[in-house]
This record gives sequence, structure tokens and C-alpha cells, in this order.
Amino acid sequence: MTVEPLLQVNNLKKHFHLSKGRTLKALDGVSFQLKQGETFGLVGESGCGKSTLGKVLMRLYEPTDGEALYEGKSLHHLSKKESFDFNRQMQMVFQDPYSSLNPRLSVKDIMLEPMEIHQLYGSQKKRIARVKELLEAVGLSYDFATRYPHEFSGGQRQRIGIARALALAPKFIVADEPISALDVSVQAQVVNLLKKLQKEEGLTFLFIAHDLSMVKYISDRIGVMYLGHLVELTTSDALYQTPLHPYTQALLSAIPIPDPDVEDKRKRFILKGEIPSPVNPPSGCVFRTRCPAAMDVCAEKKPALQAVEEGHEVACHLYNRK
Ligand code: SF4
Repeated sequence: MTVEPLLQVNNLKKHFHLSKGRTLKALDGVSFQLKQGETFGLVGESGCGKSTLGKVLMRLYEPTDGEALYEGKSLHHLSKKESFDFNRQMQMVFQDPYSSLNPRLSVKDIMLEPMEIHQLYGSQKKRIARVKELLEAVGLSYDFATRYPHEFSGGQRQRIGIARALALAPKFIVADEPISALDVSVQAQVVNLLKKLQKEEGLTFLFIAHDLSMVKYISDRIGVMYLGHLVELTTSDALYQTPLHPYTQALLSAIPIPDPDVEDKRKRFILKGEIPSPVNPPSGCVFRTRCPAAMDVCAEKKPALQAVEEGHEVACHLYNRK
């Protein structure tokens, strides 16, 4: 029996039109699927389009082309009622826990507000019980519920942001760099919390990050993005043990691997230069200006994302020629 993916993204593009006829291609044809209950990590340097992708999926941006289907329905052609329902099912945890919480509301009201809008849990008494349950689930006491966001640390605010996202009993969460604004000492705590909640609540996660080590820890599969393109897509284990795309190899080169066997076998790539502007991306393969393995064909032809082995896709002429 074929299980329908929860999310199907087909050739999604988001171009921003700038002055003087210039176009910024933040997303330039991204395709992938997400299964129910899966955590999908999306990694890449800043400016690669990963946050834009999250925002298109959350319908904060309209796509320029392509489509994203959630349970088979296009996210960008919803009726008012469907849109209201999808707003409940799909939630976002933001990068900056400082600016994503309303400073004028207490923690309790921050969490009650969306529940009231969606008339969840039947009564105010039950909603308040849910606030208590969720605060405890994210490791905060209900005694804190009458306090305001500025009274909390960054890590605590991110926990509140996560509890608020869960208040609507969503199915799908886009976590956009949820740990990058936090101290290193609390990053692992928040990732562990997300992992625990993902299991307990059966959530599907799109986890956006530039920190590959954290992404490996939380993700079932990982997509690597570069300049608006998905360049490699596979399971978390395969990506770390046999990275195929030169960009992925370069990203992984920067992380020490504790297993000496894997460390000895892997190729070393040092990434030179900056990511080019998405306003004026290189022809052919967008990675070619920084790729140590670039060939003539790389300037002429854009490599398609293709399966090299089962469950392992890569966009690179080194493999597509075989
Ligand atoms: Fe490098 Fe060419 Fe592969 Fe692009 S297609 S990653 S330039 S070898």
C-alpha cells in the first residue's frame, strides 16, 4: 500500500522582483516529500533559500511557480475555511524567541489566544488545563504563566514559543533555526525537547538550520540547499557516512567526526569564497564557482536532482554522467 506523503513539494520557486528589472531567485525549483511523523532537516548557508522555503510552506509568501501539496491539497489555493483549518494544523517555531512573543501578553494569554480563536478544547477551563499541560511538557512550571516574555531567558522564551505552537494541536511544524539565537548550553536542551515532543505528539517537522551536527541528531532525512536549489537529499545516516555532493562534503569537512574509521575515509574539501548573489547566480551548476571538482559541463548545464541509489538523490554531473 502506498502511503500518501503529508507534504509534497513540486518544483517550487520564489523569485523576488527588485528594482531595475533584477530578480532575486531565493528558491529556484525545489522538490521533495515529507512523510507523516518524519523530521526533515533542511541545511545550508545563510541566503540559500531555506527560510524562504519555510515561509512559502507556511503561506507567508506566495510561490512564483510550482506547488506545495499538504494531504494532497494545494496550500496556495485554499478556501477561507480550509485556510483557517490549515493555520491550526501547520505551526511555526521562529528563530528569534525575543521578537516572536507578544510582549504585552502574559504567557498564559499568549497560549490561550490561539486556542480561543480556534475554539479548541470545548471550554475555558479545559483550555487553561491544556496551557498547564503544555508548559509542563516544555519544562516550565505553570507558576510562570502570569509572567511576561521579558521576564524569561532566551531558552525559556523558545520553550514558550514551542508550547504556543503546540497549543493548537498541529500536525506539522516548521522550526526555522529554532536554536541559533540560543546559548550553546541550551541548544541541546531545546533540540532534545523538540525530539521528545515530536515522538509524543506524532508531529511532522521541517527543521531548518545551518548547524549540521544538530540537524543530524534530530532528523530522519536531510536536504542540503545551495543558492535556491536542493543539491542532496537522503537519510541522516547516509548523508554523514557517504556524502556525495561536493558542497555537502565541504560542509561536513568542517565538523569533526568522533568515529576514526569514518573520519579517515572521508574526503577533505575546504570551501572557498562566499556564496554568490541569488540575483546573479552562476550558469549551469550554481555551486560551480566554489566547487573543487567543477568541469566544463558544469558551466553549461544545470544538474538535475536524481537518485544515485535508493533514497539518495544528488544534483551533480559527477554522478549524473554515470
Ligand atoms: Fe561541482 Fe560540477 Fe558537481 Fe556542480 S555539477 S557540484 S560544479 S562537479
